[in-house]
Amino acid sequence: MVHFIGAGPGAADLITVRGRKLLREADVVIYAGSLVNPALLEDCRPDCEIHNSAFLTLEEVLRLMADAEAAGKTTVRLHTGDPSVYGAIREQTDALDRMGIPYTVTPGVSSVFGAAAALGAEFTLPGVSQTVILTRMAGRTPVPEAEQLSKLAAHGASMAIFLSAGMLDGVQAELLKGAYTPDTPAAIVYKATWPEERVCRCTVGTLAETGQRENITKTALLLIGGFLAGDYERSRLYAPDFSTEFRAAAGEEQP
Ligand code: SAH
Repeated sequence: MVHFIGAGPGAADLITVRGRKLLREADVVIYAGSLVNPALLEDCRPDCEIHNSAFLTLEEVLRLMADAEAAGKTTVRLHTGDPSVYGAIREQTDALDRMGIPYTVTPGVSSVFGAAAALGAEFTLPGVSQTVILTRMAGRTPVPEAEQLSKLAAHGASMAIFLSAGMLDGVQAELLKGAYTPDTPAAIVYKATWPEERVCRCTVGTLAETGQRENITKTALLLIGGFLAGDYERSRLYAPDFSTEFRAAAGEEQP
């Protein structure tokens, strides 16, 4: 059995209870060494075999999983944040399906939520945006034409940009081709939830100079949108004149 587990954004206590239990029980652990907090591995059994996938190809990862399975062992594949976001798990689960090896997936706290927490922000503010776009700039991995940053920027929605802290000039230029202006609030969140976390609030117009000044080129998320500052409307759900299944509006009979 192979368990894919989201390790969370960095802080070792942000893995889920389920993920930690599976990690503690594992015979073999393959962790994404570039971003998973090594402190998480302190929970592993002393006889656990630990591999850093930063040094491995997909084929080598699959070989380790297949060998463990053949020996009746349990493998944990530990991915940063949540495995479903830029986690490259599909190519692994498809291969496991072909090999007849069963697996489970345990979600994790994505860094996008670690970053929002660091900012004390809410992505979905009434009157500002009710949509969150998770995306990246094209780099060595291309992005489909219809999803170019400038096109997504046309919506002016709340946006979280992964894997792009090293291309801030390009990001800034693309965003300004859309609905954002140089004054649109933005933030660069470096290593959210790690002890070395840094939060740099800026605007779309100052993204590149902020990254340069703070010397941030990787392990950062770029958050963009009016949700980071300014006005918004109160929620309807908690408004006195709004009735719900559980609460009558002011002046109405209780449900
Ligand atoms: N599956 C991960 C994302 C992996 S892609 C998740 O759900 O978070 C790697 C990118 O994620 C990095 O380039 C960076 O943009 C972002 N990232 C990962 N951990 C981060 C953190 N603690 N703080 C800020 N950005 C982070």
